[in-house]
Amino acid sequence: MQKHIEIADFIVLDPVAPVAVATHGGRAKCLQRLIRLEMPVPKTAALSFATVRAIAAGERIDTDALMAHFGPAPLVSVRPSSEDPDWGGPGAILNIGMNEARHAEFANLLGYEAADRLFARFIQTYAVQVARLDPDMFEANGDVTEESVSAMLDAYEEETDEPFPQDPARQLADVLRAMARAWEGTSARLLRQARGAPADAGLGLVVQAMAPGFGPAESGSGVIQFASPETGLPQVTGRYKSQSQGREALDPEAQAAYLTRDPRGISLEELCPAAFADLIRFGGICRTRLREEMQIEFTLDGGRLSVLDAVRIPRSSRAALRIAVALAEDGVITPEEAVLRIEPRSLNELLHRQIDPAAPRTMLADGIAASPGAATGKLVFDSATAQSYAARGEPCILVRRETSPGDIRGMHASVGVLTERGGMTSHAAVIARGLGLPCVVSARDIVIDRKDRAIQFKDGLRLGEGDTVTLDGTSGQLLMGAPHLLEPALDDAFRTLLGWADAARDIGVRANADTPAEAEVARAFEAEGIGLCRTEHMFFEADRLTVMREMIFANTAEDRAASLERLIPMQVKDFTELFRIMEGKPVCIRLFDPPLHEFLPSNREGMRELADALQLPLAAVTRRVEALAEFNPMLGMRGVRLGVTMPEIYEAQARAIFLATIAASRKGREPIVPEIMIPLVSARREVELVKMRVDAIAAAVRTEMGAEFDYRLGVMVETPRAALRAQDIAQHAAFLSFGTNDLTQMTYGLSRDDAGRFMNAYVQQGVYPEDPFHRLDFEGVGELLRIGAERGRACRSDIILSLCGEHGGDAESIAFCRAAGFDYVSCSPFRVPVARLAAAHLAL
Ligand code: PEP
Ligand code: MG
Repeated sequence: MQKHIEIADFIVLDPVAPVAVATHGGRAKCLQRLIRLEMPVPKTAALSFATVRAIAAGERIDTDALMAHFGPAPLVSVRPSSEDPDWGGPGAILNIGMNEARHAEFANLLGYEAADRLFARFIQTYAVQVARLDPDMFEANGDVTEESVSAMLDAYEEETDEPFPQDPARQLADVLRAMARAWEGTSARLLRQARGAPADAGLGLVVQAMAPGFGPAESGSGVIQFASPETGLPQVTGRYKSQSQGREALDPEAQAAYLTRDPRGISLEELCPAAFADLIRFGGICRTRLREEMQIEFTLDGGRLSVLDAVRIPRSSRAALRIAVALAEDGVITPEEAVLRIEPRSLNELLHRQIDPAAPRTMLADGIAASPGAATGKLVFDSATAQSYAARGEPCILVRRETSPGDIRGMHASVGVLTERGGMTSHAAVIARGLGLPCVVSARDIVIDRKDRAIQFKDGLRLGEGDTVTLDGTSGQLLMGAPHLLEPALDDAFRTLLGWADAARDIGVRANADTPAEAEVARAFEAEGIGLCRTEHMFFEADRLTVMREMIFANTAEDRAASLERLIPMQVKDFTELFRIMEGKPVCIRLFDPPLHEFLPSNREGMRELADALQLPLAAVTRRVEALAEFNPMLGMRGVRLGVTMPEIYEAQARAIFLATIAASRKGREPIVPEIMIPLVSARREVELVKMRVDAIAAAVRTEMGAEFDYRLGVMVETPRAALRAQDIAQHAAFLSFGTNDLTQMTYGLSRDDAGRFMNAYVQQGVYPEDPFHRLDFEGVGELLRIGAERGRACRSDIILSLCGEHGGDAESIAFCRAAGFDYVSCSPFRVPVARLAAAHLAL
């Protein structure tokens, strides 16, 4: 037997009714607040999650009693009230209670036109949303007339074998059941779970007396808001439409009036100045009392204003930030609350150009979103062409199978980079993030025809050099043509908010910056220093690359000394510049770590170029490249292994660092204390050897130059062994910086450069929850971080701990580092603001 739920299962809203977001949903709670603020809200009743759940399960509530609350022969609306408005809910149903008797009354009162429209609209909604009939049969074509209403009633009867229900209480019961069941449907559940709703999320329903919006004196409906949804700046916008209800005024086709006076047409301000003034006042009250910029939904009935609802203004990331800062500056919320209201990831949209969300997209291919932002340009397939496009001022997108240092100039000259291979930490990805260029790697289903300079797409389309495309590094897509892009916005509000974030956070944020240009970005984004300067990246420019290659190529110590002679002055200049730009903030310089495959030519063309540059016979170059070639360059002669086997290289770099320290310190600034970091360590003895030599160079430079300086020597923990033996390694290290790119590579035994090829299959089949080069593997790699930190600290309690892999800018990794007691994280300069905000969220 169906049980009647007690009338107490709905609550008529008044200032003290016991409604809460957790039991009745956000809309019910907000309406109660509006009532408390003495706004003219029509009579409203709220049904709790429990009641709606029971209705969905087949129980009935006493809708006669519920209807009776709204006076004799009322019209009511029902709207969803979920806990979080983002979880969605069934569409509102208006004009419940409309029947033939009411139609006749309205015809007398408001005229036939209004009465027909009200009835037609209700039959249509009821037929489609409640009786689940085919929407096509109830489409109102052209003007609504008495005949079309009759036709709809006939169609209803035809389809359901019963006349259209006339009893308002029965109508309401049916509507409530339909909405309650819609919420339980599989697609609705999946949709809200995708938006973060828990599996058992409840739905409340709000039943409200209708203010019809039709009638002889000024009647209609609209929405008004007091800040721009795009910019967040104070601005009254919205739409109002005479003789309308619901959200009709928002229909772009609707002949809506403006709200404020507008030369383009009639406005609400002119039509009904008193109601307009009230709305402005209500907006101010919402802002201070609800502590939020609200959009108000309202109706006018014969000039009488009703407030039906108020919701947070939907807003762009840019607007969200401005609104939060303005509310805090006006004392409505605290700065801490403003900080918490902004989702760190949303800052990405402000730091880079992005595709206008309203613009249509034609996707050509997708891959790994390796560096955010969007750019439009013409396709080019090699660096030389990219440079000639740049020289002509034509933006271009560089497409390569993968990139290597030889492509750096081309990358600089391009506005975006697409590669067929690679992963989150491959060369193209790391460099593009440093440059702030949009980048997509491991693009699927494309074939690059290098000879023909074209991309062949799966569906048969072929694009060639000079064709215009848009690369969206935020979503990992390549798009056809030039959709509209939005510019980045680093305004005062942005700086203010991040200033508040800095005051709150308790873990440092530095930047990975290799060149003066990147250091400038790091400083502009207020990084607390440089956490990783990859010195080999300072030699990616074509004219310098030769010097680096010459050094790698040197057969004898004398030859190497000759190329180092040329290299030192360049490094002194580089480091002096970095120290100057960072204005006394710490700068951590990593000694060379050039994986040989990144610096050696891989094809005949490259060998020929190198032979030319080094003025050597081609055969000699080929022989030497073969002799140096490694099966696993990432596990080969890199990092400290270079320092141990060819000590003069690190000695030269140390000398350059100390000379730059003296030069930069002399300029009347705070003395610089450089940090020198040894890469790819796996044994204590490696550190001892390098330390001994660096100490000796420091002593020599002090004597030579007659100058004093200090420095700190530290170790990069990038091999599992370094983490496990951190207690030995820390003996000679003032700091340990965890390089999670290599540490992930070596913990999984997974090549950074090749994993992109099968990562999709691995993630799709649930082997990895996500690409571990993208999202730190807290269980495995994280365990090594914890062990390394603990053992390092056990050896030296004042040891400075940090993370400088590509994971450093990610909120979850920052939370992990903070929990493990790290001192700072270091990430690409463009990710510094996101990291600062994410760190503040953790501390608040
Ligand atoms: C790392 O391995 O995490 C790191 C920061 O160094 P690189 O990416 O230069 O190998
Ligand atoms: Mg590394």
